[in-house]
Amino acid sequence: MDIYGILAHPAHQSLSPAIHNAAFQKLGIDAEYRYFDVPGDDLSSFMIEMRDNQIKGLSVSTPHKEVIGHYLDKLDPACKEIGAVNCVYFRDGKYHGENTDWIGIKEPIEAVESIEGKRVVILGAGGAARAAIYAMKQGKAGSITILNRTVDHAHDLAKEFQCKFGSLEDFGEADIVIQATSAGLNDPKGVRLIPKEKLNINMVIFEMIYSPKETQIIKDAKEIEARTITGEQMLLHQGYAAFELWTQQKAPRKVMEQAIAEGFE
Ligand code: NAP
Repeated sequence: MDIYGILAHPAHQSLSPAIHNAAFQKLGIDAEYRYFDVPGDDLSSFMIEMRDNQIKGLSVSTPHKEVIGHYLDKLDPACKEIGAVNCVYFRDGKYHGENTDWIGIKEPIEAVESIEGKRVVILGAGGAARAAIYAMKQGKAGSITILNRTVDHAHDLAKEFQCKFGSLEDFGEADIVIQATSAGLNDPKGVRLIPKEKLNINMVIFEMIYSPKETQIIKDAKEIEARTITGEQMLLHQGYAAFELWTQQKAPRKVMEQAIAEGFE
């Protein structure tokens, strides 16, 4: 049996095991996707374990995304540009690092709106914002503006990726808004980063957070009937791409979507 898993700390809140085990079962693949709850200090010993046990693939999350690349045999160009690995797969005797987070952002947006030429505003300047910038560059966005609570962080990112930057108070014109901060994560009360009056019906609002399922910006956007994409879409689409790298088979998207929906019940 082939072993896969989510490498994170904490790991047990992840919905990835439900999604990938449902997909393995659907395709009759003899594999199991497990939780690997590994604190940052234990990463090097886990990487030895990964090779000894011939683990076939990993989803990688906090706090390992920026570090795990040092332990792998080959890195995809997207990992190098984004500076993070969120997927490990084994091929031809080598462990490869990939980044599928950007696919998880680009695909769901392009399902509702072309990115090419559009004005994109990204809220946040952490690791997820880096994947969002890469995704928007791949989609040939017309302009990318990074707005962040700590303006210095937005400035540094804007300099690296040649974008515009500012504070959250600078929010103005946009066609696509990507919420990439952790504000409101696991907080049912919610955090309003952008006043509702500044959103409009023509915008596409993409949220990365999937707990709670509807964040403040999603609630506000729905009220004004703007198009919304909620956080589980990013999780699903990066997961489809990871599954296809691991198995070299087409991901059974419907089954994976159903598994995540059941995870929210
Ligand atoms: P990170 O590197 O820690 O960055 C956090 C960002 O959030 C920073 O820009 C920080 O601003 C900002 N922030 C935190 N608290 C804030 C607050 N109260 N008000 C305003 N801004 C605040 O985190 P990350 O890895 O980029 O992840 C960001 C979010 O994306 C997380 O919620 C994560 O769960 C989500 N995510 C989802 C998926 C998915 O598959 N759906 C995948 C990856 C990430 P400062 O610079 O001012 O500190």
